[in-house]
Amino acid sequence: MKINILGVAFDALTLGEAEERADALLCSGAGGYIVTANPEIVLRCREDAAYAAAVNGAELVLADGVGDLCAARILGTPLPGRVAGSDLVPRLLARLAERGGSVFLYGARPGVAERAGESLQSTCPGLRIAGTENGYISDETALLEALEREKPDLLLLGLGAPRQELWMAKNRQRTPAVMIGVGGLLDVFAGDIPRAPETWQRLGLEWLYRLLREPRRFKRVIRLPKILFLALRERK
Ligand code: UDP
Repeated sequence: MKINILGVAFDALTLGEAEERADALLCSGAGGYIVTANPEIVLRCREDAAYAAAVNGAELVLADGVGDLCAARILGTPLPGRVAGSDLVPRLLARLAERGGSVFLYGARPGVAERAGESLQSTCPGLRIAGTENGYISDETALLEALEREKPDLLLLGLGAPRQELWMAKNRQRTPAVMIGVGGLLDVFAGDIPRAPETWQRLGLEWLYRLLREPRRFKRVIRLPKILFLALRERK
């Protein structure tokens, strides 16, 4: 079931249900892409119609932020829970590894995707790394050729929003891989950025943890309460 929150069509799924749906997509071989839409993505969709089309064109749109859940509640159409990419992706990789499947890692600064791949191979024995590419290349020819040649089951895009969602919408026909935009998760897999401790995650304070570690995010975070104001305005 889709629930429209401020113009973004979220799939009303728990983490476990999202895992099942995403894994079924992987097994189908039909490709497609998954967006984990945090409040920043929702706000951007309201300002950019092409971006909103890219987000809403995804096979699955998941609520990756407490702000999404609060807005949904204010609008009287609650979502069942937060589905963070950082929770979903490791579960999918574990399932993929059991089947001897492959993943391609695209994004982050040079060297990060390689190190992320090495780390994933040790945490998910059996997982094949089909290739890696950093997120700052200007010519994607070699990357697209590698994707065509290697045919990974899964493609993780750590390019940040909006680039990763626009890339997935544009290139969905070019690869049968299931694609997921993962933001800074490749840096986490590489061990460069720690994930918030579980207590912070449970309290819905992962954004605060990241803000304290990376104060330059302040300009981004300060805008986020806007999602609640918009929901309150739309409810009237
Ligand atoms: N990035 C990239 N290419 C770019 C801009 C950013 O590969 O042109 C990467 C950046 O190195 C980082 C990720 O995209 O690994 C964005 O992380 P951010 O923390 O902004 O994403 P979030 O997790 O907040 O969605």
